[in-house]
Amino acid sequence: MEKRIGIYPGTFDPITNGHLDIIQRGLKLFDVLYVVIPNNIQKQSLFTVDERIALIKEVLKEYDNVVITSTDKLTVDFAEEVGAFAMLRGLRMVSDFEYELQLSAINKVMKNEIETIFIMSSHELSFLSSSSVKEIAKFGGDTSKFVPTAVTKALVEKFKK
Ligand code: ADP
Repeated sequence: MEKRIGIYPGTFDPITNGHLDIIQRGLKLFDVLYVVIPNNIQKQSLFTVDERIALIKEVLKEYDNVVITSTDKLTVDFAEEVGAFAMLRGLRMVSDFEYELQLSAINKVMKNEIETIFIMSSHELSFLSSSSVKEIAKFGGDTSKFVPTAVTKALVEKFKK
């Protein structure tokens, strides 16, 4: 049978337990999932793309059906290149909806064959974002309830400098 390939695009600056929850639940829908960081996003980031990839690889090292990478291409083009039929996105609150609706509509116009599949955030993680985690770490707070151990360590290191 043909493999069901999906991509999970995001900034992951850094990866949180919220992203992990979406990945773990998303894996019920896909045989192979590409976690992909677009290089072309004009966002100020704390971690470089390579650092973010290394962290995600560390956190997901037990999963042999997840591929972690970055791309210079448009997300829909990357999806097509790897043979994905869908993109996975997580939805937290109503505030995510407008942005995600717009993004998925634009992507659909660009490449009609690629679907966007949304998974609702687990309620206990629906408040969690990479930016709030960075804010906590910046002021020396404990992030260990929100991110995997490797990420907590990397945040401590980052803000030491
Ligand atoms: P982007 O800049 O593309 O939004 P993010 O890394 O912030 O990248 O998020 C990637 C995806 O993960 C988005 O669909 C986002 O809504 C989702 N996401 C982020 N945090 C959570 C969370 N706590 N629970 C569920 N989904 C989340």
